[in-house]
Amino acid sequence: MTYSVSGLSVVGVIGAGIMGAGIAQVLAASGFQTVLYDTRPEALAKAQADIHARLDRLAEKGQMGAQDAAHAKSRLRIASDLADLAPAGLVIEAIVENLEVKQALFRQLEEVVPETAVLASNTSSLSIAAIGRACRHRQRICGMHFFNPVPLMKLVEVIAGPATRPEVMQLATDLVGRMGKVAVVAKDGPGFLVNLGGRAFYTEALHIEAEGVASPEQIDRIMTAGCGFRMGPFALMDLTGIDVNFPVTGFIHQGHQYDPRLKTAPRHERMFEAGLYGRKVGRGFYDYS
Ligand code: NAD
Repeated sequence: MTYSVSGLSVVGVIGAGIMGAGIAQVLAASGFQTVLYDTRPEALAKAQADIHARLDRLAEKGQMGAQDAAHAKSRLRIASDLADLAPAGLVIEAIVENLEVKQALFRQLEEVVPETAVLASNTSSLSIAAIGRACRHRQRICGMHFFNPVPLMKLVEVIAGPATRPEVMQLATDLVGRMGKVAVVAKDGPGFLVNLGGRAFYTEALHIEAEGVASPEQIDRIMTAGCGFRMGPFALMDLTGIDVNFPVTGFIHQGHQYDPRLKTAPRHERMFEAGLYGRKVGRGFYDYS
């Protein structure tokens, strides 16, 4: 098998949530037959409707040709059976951030796709080595870590596990380029580069709030109006989803031997426990109802 992006026609995406839907949209718009799979039919229906609406909006605004948008829509297929990913030369997993669940999925996936298919995880904080441990063919496992919102964010971290072949890394990097994005190779450690280096953006803000120095609104305003960030930490946590951001923070803290610099504040956990996940449920640090 030659790992060449020009030989890649079908790409699979698993998980039709915030990230999977964004990745599938960009793949379909970049010319790939895209198969999007999820265990929840309602997630698939929502993802398809959202992707179509976003492509239509791009066409209306003149940021994409109407025909290109129509072609992108026709290249996207939703699938409620994992076996529908069989023709994919590369599959990107974007399901819940839980090692056991991801390992079980990769095990199942290996039964479906050929031995040559590349399997990538969009994990934010789990190690590619640990995900690959569940696999029989570890040389084809890598990380492809996209950022939210995927259609807008240029960066993708590409991560090798201990057994990943260089050709697999090259294919992942070339695919990122074909998607109009910029690949940066990062080491396989908890949080890779961006989520480790950027963790303090959230944790410091949470500690400042816990100490009563400033409210989420004030901190977000300072970070946007004063420091030039597009979004403040609380608005960004609501966008990411506290169901994602809180466990990710915990895995990175644990993975770095409980380094106190990476510790979050108790309110983060309370929000997670209460199901106040942010925009996706209508309430997080802010009210979206
Ligand atoms: P999400 O909750 O929006 O979507 C996850 C989807 O996965 C859901 O639709 C769910 O039904 C589906 N799913 C769960 N288990 C499944 C299984 N076994 N098989 C098939 N589908 C399954 O989550 P998200 O925010 O899109 O995050 C997905 C992944 O991307 C996580 O690993 C997360 O850490 C990572 N990530 C998230 C962000 C972000 O900002 N949200 C950014 C970068 C990376």
